[in-house]
Parts: sequence; structure tokens; C-alpha cells
Amino acid sequence: MNSTVILPNGREVPSLGLGTWHMGERIGDPTTEALALKRGLDLGATVIDTAEMYARGGAERVVAEAIKGRREEVFIVSKVLPHNASRHGTIRACENSLQRLGIDAIDLYLLHWPGPHPLGDTIEAFHDLKKIGKIKAWGVSNFDTSDMEELWRVPGGADCQTNQILYNLMRRGVEWDLLPWCYKNGVSVMAYSPLEQGRLLNNKKLNSLAKQRNLSPAQIAIAWTLCKKGVISIPKASSIRHVEENIAAWSIKLEKSDLDLLNEEFKPPLKKGMLDIL
Ligand code: NAP
Repeated sequence: MNSTVILPNGREVPSLGLGTWHMGERIGDPTTEALALKRGLDLGATVIDTAEMYARGGAERVVAEAIKGRREEVFIVSKVLPHNASRHGTIRACENSLQRLGIDAIDLYLLHWPGPHPLGDTIEAFHDLKKIGKIKAWGVSNFDTSDMEELWRVPGGADCQTNQILYNLMRRGVEWDLLPWCYKNGVSVMAYSPLEQGRLLNNKKLNSLAKQRNLSPAQIAIAWTLCKKGVISIPKASSIRHVEENIAAWSIKLEKSDLDLLNEEFKPPLKKGMLDIL
């Protein structure tokens, strides 16, 4: 298992981070959510993934609460919505995110998915934001192989640090050509929804393997993403109990027999399919 991932710019980050989708929504409890994130930071999962989209900025406010007084130890990832990602809209969106997060610079700023604005305009805005110190690096999310190829044709496009994609035991389509493309071009991968938003945890085979190994199904699912080269896994958990359980997956070594069993139940792709998105 890789405990850190080195981004193309040389920055080393933990391979396990903390998701925040649905945090800061009215049904959630922002104080409990911030405490869960703090516990994650205490345990070394210092990558926090958020987005302007989540709870319309509410998740970024929860993050602000969680990182108070400890900015230096955290690596913050946030995202601009595609319809905001014009030349000027990207700058505005970033400034709004910075304000909600209560910080001066975002460590990694992503285009949430390919959208209506010319990619070149978004990339120019990312470069400007980098120049003025409002972001330290940028990347993309939900980009399929053809989108990455297009990005590589845009001036400055190869400065992209990561592609954040849906990747878990149930969603292995990216192994066909997108993951190999990212490895070949040195782009890191952030695996989102590693638990398939909890749906994966009902799988019978996964549960029996977990029982056999005296682990939880969530731990096996997270450990599986963590054994992939160059992958940062960002499960979301809004309780301290779930955070602790998930972070313990860092020290799990899946044996060949475990991986064979998982491959049998969750088959790798046999052909190219469309990139799955949640
Ligand atoms: P996920 O991490 O696969 O699953 C989250 C769900 O699993 C929550 O309901 C959580 O419950 C539950 N859970 C967490 N740990 C558990 C455990 N140990 N045992 C049982 N249940 C557990 O789904 P996700 O939130 O969609 O994905 C993770 C993060 O990836 C997001 O939060 C977001 O930051 C990012 N993401 C990015 C995109 C994109 O387009 N770029 C799309 C989706 C997600 P509790 O909250 O109650 O703990």
C-alpha cells in the first residue's frame, strides 16, 4: 500500500483524504461534521476534498471550521463548477471559495467536470490564479481519456496535477484506458466515492471477506483503492467512528487471495465504456 502520492509538481500528499459532499447541508450537523474532519486530520488524512457545489458552499464552511488554527497541515482541494469556469468566472468562483474556506490559497483547484466554456479559458484562469498565489496547483475531475487528450493539446494543459474520477470496486471501467493514460502521462488520480456512497457495503462477497479478515467492508473497499499506484482515495465520513474505521484501512495489506476474490466478484473491464460519473 502507498501511504503517500507524489503529484507531478513534486508535492507529496497522503494517499487517503477526506470527502465532504453533503456536508453543510441542512439535514447534517455541521459541528459533528467538522469534528469528524478534525479527527481525520489528527490521524494524518490531511487531504480534504470539497467544492463550491457542495451544499452551495456549505461544505467549504464546514472545512473552514475544521481547519481553524491548523492551515499548514492541510492540503485543500476545491472545485469550480463548469458553468462558472469562464476566463473571469473561474477567478470569481475561486475568490468566493477562498472566502468561505477562510484561507489565502487553495492547494489544488479542479474543474469539476468538462463544461460549456472553452477549456483554454479555464486553464488560462487557473494559470492566472497560480501566478497571483490564490491557488498552488490545478487539475480536473470527471475527464475521460479523450478529454485528457484534448487538455494536453491546450497550451499549459499538461500542468494538470490530477484527474479526480469515480473509481471503486464496482466502477472499474477506468482501468481500461483512463488509468493507464494517467500513469503514462504522470497525472495522479483521486478516486472519489470509494464506497460507492455506501452501496458497495451491502455486497455479500465483500462482507464475507471482511468477516474472514476481521475487518469492515468499508475498510476492504478503501484498502483496495489504496493499493493502486498513484491513487488518492477520498472517502467521506461524517462521524468520528467512520473516520477512524476508514483511516485504519491505511495499514491493511490485501493478500493475493483477497485480490483474486475481489477480482472474481468485481470484474475488471473487458472493453472501453463511457466514464461513469456520480
Ligand atoms: P463515499 O465516500 O463512497 O461514501 C460516503 C457514504 O459512506 C456516506 O454515506 C458515509 O456515511 C458512508 N460511510 C463512510 N464510511 C463508512 C464506514 N466506515 N462504514 C459505513 N458507512 C460509511 O461517497 P462520496 O461522498 O460520494 O465520495 C467521497 C468524496 O468524493 C465526496 O464526499 C466528495 O468529496 C468526492 N466526490 C467527488 C465527485 C466529483 O465529481 N469530483 C463526485 C462524488 C464525490 P456517513 O457520512 O454517515 O459517515
